[in-house]
Amino acid sequence: MDLFGGSDDQKLTDIGKAEVIYSKASSILTEAKGFMGGYDYTLNPYSGCTFGCTYCYAAFFARFESDMKNWGKWVRVKENAIDLLNKFSKKNVLKGKTIYMSSVTDPYQPVEKKLELTRSLLKLLLPYQPTLVIQTRSPNVVRDIDIFQQFEHIQVNMTITTDSEIVRKTFEPFCPSNKVRLDAIKNVHEAGVPSCITMTPLLPIDNAEIFAKQLLQTGIRKFVVQPFHAEKGKFIAGTREQALNLIKEFDWTDERYKEILRILEKYIPNIGIGKDGFQPPL
Ligand code: SF4
Repeated sequence: MDLFGGSDDQKLTDIGKAEVIYSKASSILTEAKGFMGGYDYTLNPYSGCTFGCTYCYAAFFARFESDMKNWGKWVRVKENAIDLLNKFSKKNVLKGKTIYMSSVTDPYQPVEKKLELTRSLLKLLLPYQPTLVIQTRSPNVVRDIDIFQQFEHIQVNMTITTDSEIVRKTFEPFCPSNKVRLDAIKNVHEAGVPSCITMTPLLPIDNAEIFAKQLLQTGIRKFVVQPFHAEKGKFIAGTREQALNLIKEFDWTDERYKEILRILEKYIPNIGIGKDGFQPPL
């Protein structure tokens, strides 16, 4: 089924300043590897991402150099995603499998509000009851609480990288504010859906004590931290040049990161660090 109609391989529309491209994908569930190796599959309803975080490693997986350069200005909708997932789930056992949604896009980015593609895919997964982790920076995730509540094993991760709106606007100018994200994940948690706050990457912090208290006020008790990778080329998919330049404007050294982490850990014991923190929930 072609959810969005039409037969052209590529149809372009504009939402705001971002380009929305509709195209057919060859697969929807990808065997997880590397950082996501603790999962069976990753599920990306879109490729590209109009949140366009300056540090986003996913930009390095863009198909064309121009796509990488214009990261944040386009999103590709996998218009045959439902067909692909239907076919996959009929052939493969999904019960007991672990799925991370999503690794190279945000499943609740702005266009999802209108298209409801992520929502449709979640509905399709429901009968198979895989263990599911949702990763987002969007308050629109609250729309699907009714579906999350029907999964036996699920966790919703909200990324909040700083307590400072100045830092947030510098590194994530197209993302929702810190407060909006905190309120959203609090709502998910209060609806009885296991939730986690991921500080990935942890960006410069104004006041670690107050930040820790704000995080705990959500009621959530699961947190993950990952350092900002300031060394380009150390990792296969590193931090984008833009963020490497921006970080120089802040006093954000390894020592400062460790100092902030020590303060956070005083208030929040058992913070998961890096890949270990991202393991699927039991
Ligand atoms: S929301 Fe995630 S996928 Fe989108 S630009 Fe930011 S880091 Fe990348």
